[in-house]
Amino acid sequence: EVKKETLGFQTEVKHLLHLMIHSLYSNKEIFLRELISNGSDAVDKLRFEALSNDKLYDGDSDLKIRIAFDKDQRTITITDNGIGMTRAEVQEHIGTIAKSGTKQFFEALTGEQAKDSELIGQFGVGFYSAFIVADKVTLTTRKAGSDKSEGARWESAGEGDYTLETVEKAQRGTEIVLHLKEGEDEFLDSYRIRSVVRKFSDHIALPIVMDKEVMPSYEDDSEENADDTEKSDAKPVAQIEEETINSASALWTKARQDISEEDYASFYKHVSHDYQEPLTHVHSKVEGTNEYTLLLYVPTRAPFDMWDREAKHGVKLYIRKVFITDDAEQLMPRYLRFIKGIIDTNSLPLNVSREILQQSKQISNIKSGAVKKVLGMLESLAKNDPEKYATFWSQFGAVIKEGPIEDHSNKDRVSKLLRFASTHANTDKQEVALEDYVGRMKEGQEKIYYVTGETFSAAKNSPHLEIFRKKGIEVLLLSDRIDEWLVSHLDEFDGKHLESVAKGNLDLGSLADEEDQKNQEEVNKDFESVLKQIKDVLGDKVSEVKLSHRLTESPACLVADVYGMSLNMERIMKEAGQ
Ligand code: ADP
Ligand code: MG
Repeated sequence: EVKKETLGFQTEVKHLLHLMIHSLYSNKEIFLRELISNGSDAVDKLRFEALSNDKLYDGDSDLKIRIAFDKDQRTITITDNGIGMTRAEVQEHIGTIAKSGTKQFFEALTGEQAKDSELIGQFGVGFYSAFIVADKVTLTTRKAGSDKSEGARWESAGEGDYTLETVEKAQRGTEIVLHLKEGEDEFLDSYRIRSVVRKFSDHIALPIVMDKEVMPSYEDDSEENADDTEKSDAKPVAQIEEETINSASALWTKARQDISEEDYASFYKHVSHDYQEPLTHVHSKVEGTNEYTLLLYVPTRAPFDMWDREAKHGVKLYIRKVFITDDAEQLMPRYLRFIKGIIDTNSLPLNVSREILQQSKQISNIKSGAVKKVLGMLESLAKNDPEKYATFWSQFGAVIKEGPIEDHSNKDRVSKLLRFASTHANTDKQEVALEDYVGRMKEGQEKIYYVTGETFSAAKNSPHLEIFRKKGIEVLLLSDRIDEWLVSHLDEFDGKHLESVAKGNLDLGSLADEEDQKNQEEVNKDFESVLKQIKDVLGDKVSEVKLSHRLTESPACLVADVYGMSLNMERIMKEAGQ
């Protein structure tokens, strides 16, 4: 219907808009980055759809984003010829309903403007950043493949509501007009716009163009008419030329030595929507039966949705520089879900469908190659920059611990990357590698001992540790939620069995001395009747009451059956409702 309707924003969107309008003015220029990034996403989507239906180009395959401004009207216009939206899609995506990221965005706010405005892109609320500088926004769009009469116009002053109507639109794609607020005239300046675009969007592999006035050159003129003594009176007329203002090349296709650290960092910010520098990266070209280039990064900080099962994966798949999907779960295993970046392959046909991708042998080969590259990157970080590795571990360690459970083929390599707290340093800092532990094992020690607990201090103060402390045997102190699952899958390292100090008959093997042995037998006899009495009192609550030799200070402790679940595991299962 052509009818114009007025619709209300949901409360959360209203809050968001209020925030944009009134509080986030210290980093205003990010609105350009967000709108350009949306335009670039829209072009990527069109390119992908057009692989199987090139009618969608409709004679215009020169994909780009155009920025223009009008000093008199005080407007900035950002136009793309990407996929566009139907009226219903406009309503869905930038209309009434807040997106899932909105709530988390509010939760993540710090009150510090500069930081908060940087969060916008990460939480998928980028479009609304237009209201940082505009007091009215008009978005006109038409979906690729739809009729010229099926354009949609959305307009809002960012307060309670917006209008939506059906309009004619000659070109597919989206045009956004920002009516600048009083005092925002700094953006009505070609130099200013260019520098913002270069700062934030240089590495978008899509031309961002602006019009430029070009004066016919006087010198050229005079050369041609060198002998002409009579000068023409006609004034030179300025010509408009389109100028690309970003580098518009796919960074990963360049040779490593031609890319600066700054380039790498700015590309990272673009693909990840993160505002911080990356911790490290790997850029590598793999040749052979499967040809691909990868550029993958480790962020400095964990993203807000790292524990969200629905969260998007961070690695984008390209085929011959054409963006295919950022939903390629099959490109990275779950325990490396924090990795951001791109993989671009030449070995797949451009017209693959998402379904084919899911079963593709090439993709699974690429994945296993990419995982090896990532593990290599982490190994060299651990070796060459322990300080950075410690940062990495504090952010992502708990996720890496899923590795030995999920990824059998790389179990050994991942095990070496693990870090734990232990009785060696007795602090909650997880910095002991299993290799360090093994290097410090006592003569005659055959096993790697650990204790699990609900908290670090519960683990550290476990009565089970007394005998180990006395004998000077190091014990790993495990208190992350994942640790129980980890040790149930990681039964050995370097040929040494991992053993809980809290389980069943503690067998210290040759670590127990003979004197202990003799004493134990005598004491056992003395206590026989006491033990029986205790068992009678406790009845079914315990399966057995035994004399223990592992305690040196505490009078008693609970132990789990050798084949039973550990106590901590029982607790976790209970919490999970088992
Ligand atoms: P995000 O980009 O993280 O999804 P935004 O708030 O920036 O969040 O945009 C919301 C949604 O609006 C996008 O996901 C997209 O569906 C739609 N959208 C925004 N700008 C455009 C555009 N230029 N072309 C097509 N769709 C767009
Ligand atoms: Mg966006």
